[in-house]
Amino acid sequence: MKKEDFVPLLEIQSVERKIQNITSSIEKENHRFDQLNSLNQKNEIKIKETKERVEVIINSLEDNEKQLDQLSESLIIKEKEMMKVRTNNELIKIEVEIKKTREQINLLEESMLSLLDEEEQKKGDLDQFNIFNQNFKNSYEEIQKDIEKENYQLFNQKKSLETHLNNLYRDLPKEISDVYVTLKKKHTSPIAFLETNRCGSCKTLIDHLSIKSIESFSAIVLCPTCKKALVATSVQY
Ligand SMILES: [Zn+2]
Repeated sequence: MKKEDFVPLLEIQSVERKIQNITSSIEKENHRFDQLNSLNQKNEIKIKETKERVEVIINSLEDNEKQLDQLSESLIIKEKEMMKVRTNNELIKIEVEIKKTREQINLLEESMLSLLDEEEQKKGDLDQFNIFNQNFKNSYEEIQKDIEKENYQLFNQKKSLETHLNNLYRDLPKEISDVYVTLKKKHTSPIAFLETNRCGSCKTLIDHLSIKSIESFSAIVLCPTCKKALVATSVQY
């Protein structure tokens, strides 16, 4: 390893900080989506609830249909029985049963009609919710376009910084870039300067042997306390 190998590191750290700042500014713009997102969330909940209700209605209708078939069958049987009765008492009894069955059939038919009404209404609701969904995508894209248009410079700046960053990484020897990428997971600024004999970040005293390696750029030395990579200030000159 030599001094030139460490030069891109500082630039990388500074470019990454700039990109981070731009990303934060852009993220603030994303608040424009908040209201739309919350409406969309409500809409999705309504769609889910409505679909569930439609399913319940369809199942109830099937059940009611079966009951209706059974009642109609038993009505036919009872009407046939009525033809065969011999006593007045029997006749009264069967007439009561027939009346009761007819009432049950009426109730069932009424309930089925109201279920059918509700099903139709729910399906109309679903159409409305789906129209919102389609419009949502359009509004979302419109806001996205506005953000990109109004922050054209930021987006451009970010893009060119990212290209620059890729080039810097390409110039960096693999063993240094591997260490740097690992450190970056813990630190936003993984590089600290060696200031006299201390870590420039946490001020820990650094031993002589390490200082020698750092100043000769012969190895990557991490601060024993904050674990940042220590770089000699002479890298800048
Ligand atoms: Zn330190």
